Amino acid sequence: MYHSISSYASPKFRPCIVSPEVFEEHLSYLEQHHYTSMTVTQFVQAMDQGWGKLPPRPVILTFDDGYEDFYTCALPALQRHGFVATLYIATMFVGGTSRWLQREGESLRPMLMWDQVAKISASGIECGAHTHTHPPLDMLSPSVARSEIVHSKELLEEHLGQHVSSFAYPFGYYTSVVRRIVQESGYTSACAIKHTISSPVDDPYALARLAIKPDTDVHDLATALSSGCGPLVASPVKRIRANVRQGVRGVYGKLWAGWSAIDKRASKEIRSSYAN
Ligand SMILES: [Zn+2]
Repeated sequence: MYHSISSYASPKFRPCIVSPEVFEEHLSYLEQHHYTSMTVTQFVQAMDQGWGKLPPRPVILTFDDGYEDFYTCALPALQRHGFVATLYIATMFVGGTSRWLQREGESLRPMLMWDQVAKISASGIECGAHTHTHPPLDMLSPSVARSEIVHSKELLEEHLGQHVSSFAYPFGYYTSVVRRIVQESGYTSACAIKHTISSPVDDPYALARLAIKPDTDVHDLATALSSGCGPLVASPVKRIRANVRQGVRGVYGKLWAGWSAIDKRASKEIRSSYAN
């Protein structure tokens, strides 16, 4: 799981960038070691048909949010190495800036334009949805979560003229209700985070991903891919802790004071963007 391929970021956003040079090293490593890239949808289709349908040394590169540098930097690099990828787009910010990153001091990061998204899709990169306003879905009421999940899919389909079948949970947060809404909305897969290697027995609506960081070197990447361990992979204890938020908010979400405030803000943003 990559986010922005760029060299500069505020301190709070820094974990979400990988420099173009480091990204190039990752891709060179994957190419030299004969990895076969797949989109997320190709992966879940292969999962459906059984383990034997996976290509040798499969790898799935995903990019969250829809930063403009995917078009200017990541895409040319992927094409040079002959790799595909899945890009997850938060649709409200297309043609604008990363306004949801205000607290990270990154609200002016340029996002993709719709014509760039269309060119990316035409080049064979899968475009999936990442909600409309990038809220933590585990904090929303089911009806607002549904709007986020459905509206982003509809907008992408309208602009791309094709079916959008994959989804990624913002921040990786989801509950059993959110998972069910994603499934009911016509997606065939959804990416979580989990900080571990995915496998053909993963839940297709909660696929595990590794967070690639600015200091993830080729050695760390190689260790994770070949052995499923190393610095990119969280310990079982940390993975259990990461799930506590989901469990607590899923069951007791309505008791959380912040819950309705976020719900109201998200509904307002969705409504005003419908009006535009
Ligand atoms: Zn995101």
